Amino acid sequence: MLCYDVSNRIMGSVMPILRGFFLTLFATLLSACQTMAVNARQADSPAAPARAAPLTILVHGGAGSARPGGLPEEDDAAYRAALTLALDTGYQILASGGSSLDAVQAAIVTMEDNALFNAGKGAVFTAEGRNELDSSLMDGRNRDAGAVAGVTTIKNPILAARAVIDKSPHVMMAREGAEEFAKAQGLTLVPPSYFHTDARWKQLERARAKAEAKTALPATSHFGTVGAVALDKDGHIAAGTSTGGMTYKRFGRIGDSPVIGAGTYASDASCAVSATGWGEFFIRGTAARDICARVQWNDANIQDAADAVIADLEEMGGTGGVLALAPDGSHAFSFSTQVMFRGVKTAAGSEVHILADETEQQMSK
Ligand code: ASP
Repeated sequence: MLCYDVSNRIMGSVMPILRGFFLTLFATLLSACQTMAVNARQADSPAAPARAAPLTILVHGGAGSARPGGLPEEDDAAYRAALTLALDTGYQILASGGSSLDAVQAAIVTMEDNALFNAGKGAVFTAEGRNELDSSLMDGRNRDAGAVAGVTTIKNPILAARAVIDKSPHVMMAREGAEEFAKAQGLTLVPPSYFHTDARWKQLERARAKAEAKTALPATSHFGTVGAVALDKDGHIAAGTSTGGMTYKRFGRIGDSPVIGAGTYASDASCAVSATGWGEFFIRGTAARDICARVQWNDANIQDAADAVIADLEEMGGTGGVLALAPDGSHAFSFSTQVMFRGVKTAAGSEVHILADETEQQMSK
């Protein structure tokens, strides 16, 4: 009995001490684990900017050969106004604290809705007289990506690419499957005739006439694909591209625009790129990722990286252009064509250009 009392008294005084010891040990271990996890995450992703990043958006509306005699004055003005609208729409989102992903998406929607561009409403025709649209979007913050390919009824394919990021575990969806998904997400579907424009139909007829005797894909003189890259206040970059592809494409051909790493790429660790041009070459050259890899691993200046990749594609026989943007705000336009519809907007102002030799104040920085 005495023994029992003594041991009870001893246990009564030792237990609180032991409990306190184990609680302290547990708390110390937990905090050490949390510190290790934060350190590991920081090693994977670039450090957050100490102050707000320089808000920047770049857009393109395709590249190609100059028309003999240049663009008619009213067309020239219409293109410049459309590029300005895309820049202003995206920049407004950045300026009100929105994300680069939202800014890129919104800028692209304005161009998809404009029949001037080979994306959305103004998509080119396939050899069979259909409009098959491709699009992709990538978030540099975490390298989330979404893409749709060969869709015929989605009014704004860039919104479908965004839904793939937000609402699915996949990266790329194609054709009827992508359309079924878009419908389930409540996106606007249109009859295929929505994409029919007389200008694109005439383009198809010209391409058809040229191609009749040949087996090779006729070289396109103008690519009207649209794209954007942006940098938000938190230092995150994003990229997106949308297109109808190439006139007279056949057999369910898909170009580079919906292919992550070819027509579109974004990573906060390097850069964001949107491309336009002869897609087969951009896919074979993994163009967008190659530019960012040069920036990331070779410490290349963004203009040099973009120029090197465009030169490499040219050597392979492909033409086109890219816009590229790094998280520090440095950016570049590079193209091997006579024209590229392009623009940039920062806090310093905005500018849009078409011809290769137009004066560029801040196009390359
Ligand atoms: N790159 C697109 C494709 O090959 C065409 C374009 O840029 O206009 O599908």
